[in-house]
Amino acid sequence: MENTSQKNIQSPRGTRDLLPDQIVGWQFLEKVFSEVAQRFGYQEIRTPIFEHTEVFSRVIGENTDVVSKEMYSFQDKGEKYSLTLRPEMTAGAVRAAVQHNLTATGQLQRLWYIGPQFRYERPQAGRFRQFYQCGAECYNASSPESDAELIMFAAMVLQELGLSQYTLHINTLGTAGCREQYVQALVQYLEEKKELLSHDSQVRLTKNPLRILDSKDRGDKAILKDAPILSDYLSEESKQHFTKVLSILEANGYSYTITQSLVRGLDYYSHTVFEFTSSDLGSQDALGGGGRYDSMFEYFGGKHTPSVGFSLGMDRIIMILQKIRPEIFTLPTIDCYIIAMDKTVGEVVQTMAMKMRQNNISVITDLQYRSLKAQMREANKIGAKTVIVIGEEEIKSKQYKVKNMEDGSETLRSEFIG
Ligand code: AMP
Repeated sequence: MENTSQKNIQSPRGTRDLLPDQIVGWQFLEKVFSEVAQRFGYQEIRTPIFEHTEVFSRVIGENTDVVSKEMYSFQDKGEKYSLTLRPEMTAGAVRAAVQHNLTATGQLQRLWYIGPQFRYERPQAGRFRQFYQCGAECYNASSPESDAELIMFAAMVLQELGLSQYTLHINTLGTAGCREQYVQALVQYLEEKKELLSHDSQVRLTKNPLRILDSKDRGDKAILKDAPILSDYLSEESKQHFTKVLSILEANGYSYTITQSLVRGLDYYSHTVFEFTSSDLGSQDALGGGGRYDSMFEYFGGKHTPSVGFSLGMDRIIMILQKIRPEIFTLPTIDCYIIAMDKTVGEVVQTMAMKMRQNNISVITDLQYRSLKAQMREANKIGAKTVIVIGEEEIKSKQYKVKNMEDGSETLRSEFIG
């Protein structure tokens, strides 16, 4: 047993409680995201938080960090199979699409999602073990227009949120064929300099050489300067696809940076990959990203279904919103606080409050039989727009005063009472 004294149980490392004054910001983000999704004609999908481990290990790639180090996997109680808390959404959504035949007839399928993800990573600013993503996927979409649609969807979310300080990095990984040739050339080049590479990169050289390209190690970076570049190995078709994506972005006024080192951590991408980074964040500056994945459906026994998707890191977006739009994090105000003069009028106050709520007015009452003064103090503290005091006299006359807390004016009213 872990030694956690009962007095001092805290949330697990890398997880957070999101308290009410934070949640309003999250609700805003969720609302903006779902509204933009609606504008692009995407529909929501909700998949389980845990899946069979193979759903992730097979498609994300055994040699990626996510699968080799970061998954929360456990034996199901029946000990029959291994389950994993989802580290990302794409694989589960594809599993669901195959299971429910969403794409079998070749129709376009546009889906979006929001939810918690789990990765066993070293927590730091902007990096958590339970974090949240919102994203979208488009199935049966092989055209460059689809890549551009997803990129512009993500960009529109950032714009609508008021995040203007971001950079869109974009790259193409070409087809699996182009990549294979390139990886051979890269490995050949790096093998000669193996001794000079960082330990991590030496390991990746045999397991996942493309990932060496996004190494942050200075020595690695210097070696990579003269390494073969992927763009020299692209087929004509891959080049045309990429050029079209870029031209659509340009036509819509989106600027981008072509970042050759952008390979993204997960194995399943081909052709276009992209990432949004923000200068408002620290070392964990990626706001989100995505790309094209054309072979994932086959892993689940589906047909070849070219697809493209993205996901945005909500925790990091919230960190920026807290800085640049603090006003979003304001709890909604309550329309009315009804003060009960004493215990005997409590029941009438409850009935009155219910009638008002049925008429779409938000109402708070005291539930602790507190003094008139204490109730008044609370009404002020929560910023209630109006206050009503109910005593025997108000009940008898079926009339009461509504005090407008902003200007102090009072009006005599008789609805909702009696
Ligand atoms: P990925 O699925 O790795 O491409 O992640 C997409 C986005 O999710 C990243 O750009 C981050 O904004 C966010 N993200 C990924 N991992 C974490 C994490 N451990 N904590 C917080 N945000 C994360």
